[in-house]
Amino acid sequence: MAKTKVHTFDAVIIGAGGAGLMAALYAGRGAKVAVISKLYPTRSHTGAAQGGVGAALGNLGEDHWEWHAYDTVKGSDYLADQPAVDVLCQEAIETVIELEHMGLPFDRLPDGRISQRRFGGHTNNDTGKPVYRACHAADRTGHMILQTLYQQCVKNNVNFFDEFHVVDLIRVGDTVRGVVAIQIASGEFHVFHAKAVLFATGGWGRCWEVTSNAHSLTGDGAAICLRRGIPMQDMEFFQFHPTGIFKLGILITEGVRGEGGVLINGEGERFMARYAPSIKDLASRDVVSRAIFLEVQAGRGINGQNYVHLDVTPETVNYYYEKDGESKRIDAAYIEAKLPDIADFTRTYLGVDPVKEPMPIQPTAHYAMGGIPTDVDGRVVLDDQRTVLPGLYAAGEVACVSVHGANRLGTNSLVDLIVFGRRSGRHMAEFCRENELLPLPDNAADEVIAEFERLRSSKGQVRQYELRGRMQKSMTANVGVFRVEENMKKAIDELVALRDAYHSDLVIDDKGHQYNTDLLEAWELGCLLELAQVTAISAVARKESRGGHARDDFQKRDDVNWLKHTLCYRTEDGYRLAYKPVELGRYEPKERVY
Ligand SMILES: Cc1cc2nc3c(=O)[nH]c(=O)nc-3n(C[C@H](O)[C@H](O)[C@H](O)COP(=O)(O)OP(=O)(O)OC[C@H]3O[C@@H](n4cnc5c(N)ncnc54)[C@H](O)[C@@H]3O)c2cc1C
Repeated sequence: MAKTKVHTFDAVIIGAGGAGLMAALYAGRGAKVAVISKLYPTRSHTGAAQGGVGAALGNLGEDHWEWHAYDTVKGSDYLADQPAVDVLCQEAIETVIELEHMGLPFDRLPDGRISQRRFGGHTNNDTGKPVYRACHAADRTGHMILQTLYQQCVKNNVNFFDEFHVVDLIRVGDTVRGVVAIQIASGEFHVFHAKAVLFATGGWGRCWEVTSNAHSLTGDGAAICLRRGIPMQDMEFFQFHPTGIFKLGILITEGVRGEGGVLINGEGERFMARYAPSIKDLASRDVVSRAIFLEVQAGRGINGQNYVHLDVTPETVNYYYEKDGESKRIDAAYIEAKLPDIADFTRTYLGVDPVKEPMPIQPTAHYAMGGIPTDVDGRVVLDDQRTVLPGLYAAGEVACVSVHGANRLGTNSLVDLIVFGRRSGRHMAEFCRENELLPLPDNAADEVIAEFERLRSSKGQVRQYELRGRMQKSMTANVGVFRVEENMKKAIDELVALRDAYHSDLVIDDKGHQYNTDLLEAWELGCLLELAQVTAISAVARKESRGGHARDDFQKRDDVNWLKHTLCYRTEDGYRLAYKPVELGRYEPKERVY
């Protein structure tokens, strides 16, 4: 058996993205905190977020947090919990200002206030027209958030364990005692003993073949919790972002359409006018992804192929912005200033200059609306009664509060990270003040160490990346933008076969301990396979279409039977589904019209 070192803190936070760092800053004010991250913190996926963080500052025209809340609920196809949405949209304003005060270099208006841009689904509730709500730092908003928060954490003496891969949660009955991690450089197992644990490990877009998500987004935190008896909520709702670079999946921010960019099919038509007559290209993401899919299916892709064009060239785009008190039509310099990274990506990866030519795009797997169920203080809840598991927290993309319901609006993930990261951190500090450190169980790491030794010594035929490729193909083909029962069942059968192969026929070439990425990626694949299965099982059960879950065989939303959250538990006899009511509020469910 490998050696185990033990570290003791009040609170441990797994993940150094926006959610983990915001939580660490706040928890650190009242407790001794460690952040454990498999990546160097500033490599977290939050750093890839482009377009903006939404807050109804109203710097460029009238806006209200209630409008933001209504847009979020409508965008969620009425599955979001409305009291949580109110918290999100109200606190968005003060947290964005707080980030500004921490030194985040937002784009500015001539008078010095934060500049804002339009984004999908963000509207003036009276007129239905787009509002300017997305606060941004060019198209590198997430990068700036991550850098700013990391600097603040370093300044405030948060302890970091970088390149430590967490592989288990130590749960004893209804208490948590810490986590087990592997130090990637040495392969040593470390136990982190703590009063409170927060998972902020991000999403699992790597279940699909074409995705905007980084390689590291393998759903580790969600899978660990699932294995320790915590249900996964609303896993059938996974967002496909409409504009990924063709074949590569790399994201082209919605900010391009916010700055006036338009979608065009193979017949040169601005097709969104047919699907969302009022808001067109700025309809919510599920609506736009489906429209692209249908255009392609009807043979109206570019040259009959599997993609359409996103056009932000000044010749096509009829969009005006204010400069020096004058209204100016968008030009090349404006695009370069507002979308520098996008221009760079498309030039580098496609050889396409977006100032002169349209970009080939297709929907790309992007964001997990579902995840570990929590309340508005990040506390993990276990059932339909919302029973809290004391000491366990989740925040950010891995969590499901639920503020995104069946479909997340653009800019609302970054808001979610900072609002609920902050609330979780605060609550953890309080929890640590009021509670004693409970003893570690004997041999807390033994079970997961044994699992790793089994993996390391496996002597089958098939390599982890082959299984991963098969899973990704099946999920894209069968549990993608549009779904039908037969295909989803096929995916479930394939995933069962892949998991069998994973357990009985895997081979790991690297038997060593130091930087054994072969082994760690195999373990990550175990997480992905499990989350893919939970996604498909939750999806096949939901016999309606809502938000990101669009079924050809049940095309309508069915509020009578399905206005409820899915919970999926892992049990000894397989997965078990249960449901919990949606918390409604000011807005009664009605048909979404864009
Ligand atoms: C390309 C792209 C652009 C986006 N643009 C926007 C946007 O403009 N606006 C918006 O609102 N949203 C955007 N999103 C979504 C948003 O960026 C993410 O949902 C959000 O950043 C997730 O943050 P997080 O803190 O939850 O996790 P992440 O930033 O993904 O960080 C996860 C952390 O967990 C750690 N970790 C994971 N597993 C383990 C483990 N087993 N052990 C130890 N550590 C672990 C990682 O090291 C990392 O530090 C975008 C997403 C992508 C992919």
